[in-house]
Amino acid sequence: MKNHSDFFQNLKGDVADLADEAEEVIERDLIYHLSLNEKQELEDINIALKKIEEGEYGTCVSCGSEIPIERLKVKPNARYCTKCQEKHERDKRHAVPSEETEEISNNENEE
Ligand SMILES: [Zn+2]
Repeated sequence: MKNHSDFFQNLKGDVADLADEAEEVIERDLIYHLSLNEKQELEDINIALKKIEEGEYGTCVSCGSEIPIERLKVKPNARYCTKCQEKHERDKRHAVPSEETEEISNNENEE
């Protein structure tokens, strides 16, 4: 990496690629079949793109501090810094209890 802006240019390319993929998915109407996590991912990508345009990319939406570049490398569409992400994940897990809905097919009353 030569300098910061080079890195962000590359990252912008990465996020743009993700957005292209996302658009393809939307065009194929597959968005209706996406899981909640995947939809969230798409939303994050769009938000990241918007932030790049506004020059606010790489800032935590929760506490406003800079998201570590190491984290952005792993997850270019990250909205939270590591700390807030952990908190967010914890809250999410708390708010939405994972309910294992098992469908047991009961075919015992056949004719
Ligand atoms: Zn934060």
